[in-house]
Amino acid sequence: MRTELLKNLLKIKNYSRSEETIRGYIKDYCSAHNYMFHRDDYGNVMIHNRPTLTQALHPYLISHLDSVHLYNKGYNLHDKDGIIYGTDNLGDRVGIGGDDKAGVFTCLEIMYNSNLPITSIFFVEEEIGIIGSRNFDYKFFNEASYVLSYDAPGRYSYPVCLCGKQTVKLNSEFFSKINKILEKNKINKIQNNAPYTDALNVFNATGIQTLNLPCGYYYPHANIEIVHLPSVKLAIKNGLEVVSNLLPDRKYLITDEDYGNTEYSLKSFFMENLTVDSM
Ligand SMILES: [Zn+2]
Repeated sequence: MRTELLKNLLKIKNYSRSEETIRGYIKDYCSAHNYMFHRDDYGNVMIHNRPTLTQALHPYLISHLDSVHLYNKGYNLHDKDGIIYGTDNLGDRVGIGGDDKAGVFTCLEIMYNSNLPITSIFFVEEEIGIIGSRNFDYKFFNEASYVLSYDAPGRYSYPVCLCGKQTVKLNSEFFSKINKILEKNKINKIQNNAPYTDALNVFNATGIQTLNLPCGYYYPHANIEIVHLPSVKLAIKNGLEVVSNLLPDRKYLITDEDYGNTEYSLKSFFMENLTVDSM
C-alpha cells in the first residue's frame, strides 16, 4: 500500500466547492500513470486505468472529492502507529477528510494493483447534498457491470440500505458471489439505514447493484476523525479480490419489479425528501 500517496491526499484541503486542488492532484497522477482523465462540466472526475484496452463491461468504483473541514487555525497531519490524525497550529485536533480521501485512495490503489480495466468516478459536492452526482451524465455508466462505492466508515461492516433504499439485491447471484468474498474478509452487511452518499444517486439513475463499502476512516465529520491504515489496507485487499473474482460479464441490475411494489420505484424517489445528514 502506497502510504505516502494516502498521506499526500490527506494533506490536501478539499472543502466542498473547493475541490480544485485535489482534482489537479488526480489529474497529475493520471498523466504520470497513463490513465484516461475526464472532468465533466460540473467538476466531477472520471478516470480509467487501461485506456488502450477494448472497452467492455467492467467494474466501476466511486468516491467523493470534497470534505467538511475548514482549517482556519492551520492543519498538520500526524501518523502514530498507523493511526493518521490531524491538529491545528494550536495543537487542537482537527478532522482530516478521511471521508472521503481514504475512499479516493482505495479506488486508486485497486486500479493500480489490478491488470483489469476499471473506471473510477470521483464526485464533487457530496457533503452538501450529493450535488455532484446529481449533476452527472449517467451515460458514462453504460460500461458499468457493478459499482463499488468507498464512502462508509470503519472496517468490518457496511450498510445495504441508504436512506431507506436497498441498493443491492440480497437474493441475487451477484450478492451471493460478492458476499462470499466480503465474509471471508470479515466484512459484514448491516441492515441499518445509512445516511445518503453518492451511491444512492448512482443506483437511482442506473439501477446497477451498488455496494457502499468501508474504507478505513473513523468518526467522519468530527475533529477527532482518524484514518486507520490496517483498515484501509483491508478495503484495498477486499476490493482487489472482488474485481479479480467477480466477472463483469453482465450488468447486475435491480429493477422496479425486484422491489415488488411501487413504494421504492427507482423513478419515484426524490432526494428533496431527505433530511438526514450526509455520511
Ligand atoms: Zn463521505
